[in-house]
Amino acid sequence: MNLLLFSEADRTGDNRIVITDRRLRHLRQVLGSATGDRLRVGELGGLMGTGEIVEMGDRRAVIAIGLDQEPPGKLPLSLVLALPRPKMLRRILRTVAELGVGQLHLINSYRVEKSYWQTPVLAEAALRDYLVQGLEQARDTVLPRIYCQRRFKPFVEDTLPGLVGDSTALLAHPGPYPPCPGSLAGDTVLVIGPEGGFIPYEVAKLEEAGCRPVSLGPRILRVENALTSLLGRLFH
Ligand code: SAH
Repeated sequence: MNLLLFSEADRTGDNRIVITDRRLRHLRQVLGSATGDRLRVGELGGLMGTGEIVEMGDRRAVIAIGLDQEPPGKLPLSLVLALPRPKMLRRILRTVAELGVGQLHLINSYRVEKSYWQTPVLAEAALRDYLVQGLEQARDTVLPRIYCQRRFKPFVEDTLPGLVGDSTALLAHPGPYPPCPGSLAGDTVLVIGPEGGFIPYEVAKLEEAGCRPVSLGPRILRVENALTSLLGRLFH
């Protein structure tokens, strides 16, 4: 945890916050924090700054805060990702928040198992928890927006073209395609497939919606590695 994130509910007025949950355990057990220590703090959706621990106990920590710093900007990216299995989804949510993705559309596809949509990871509180872990890692306060698009065809036909607009729209797809470009500056839409890959019908529909297939070379990467590799290349 490189940033202690708090929300309005943790404020007690007087520029102080009271921490009682997982964050308190982390302060005590992992960071070994004590009264007088200073640490970086950030308000969810707001500014970042420094905090000074004015009280540290078993049940709560009280921290005096001063906020004066904007969070880092997000990548100008709409990421479209076929819903991965829950274990991978957890990691991807953290990574998405950590790397500064602005919005994530989780979509259905032929090779997404129906049961994945039932995962508790997609429950609002759980989603937020994983995203917060990514923000704490990266020192950011702004949650990425997450959209669940449970039907492929309506998404690609009705929603995706609007999302693409004037953006550079890329479909990461292994095969004899041009290499993924480097260092894009403008708005970008990036589509990444499921672990089994998109079927040809889906590739055709995504192309129709304006997405250009690009490759990362002959190695088939795991979704999470494809994601970090693509973002590293697109936005360094
Ligand atoms: N068996 C599938 C591989 C899916 S890998 C197939 O052959 O198509 C999961 C996703 O990661 C892919 O849909 C793609 O979006 C991305 N990906 C993985 N390796 C890639 C590569 N070498 N080039 C482009 N995209 C890749």
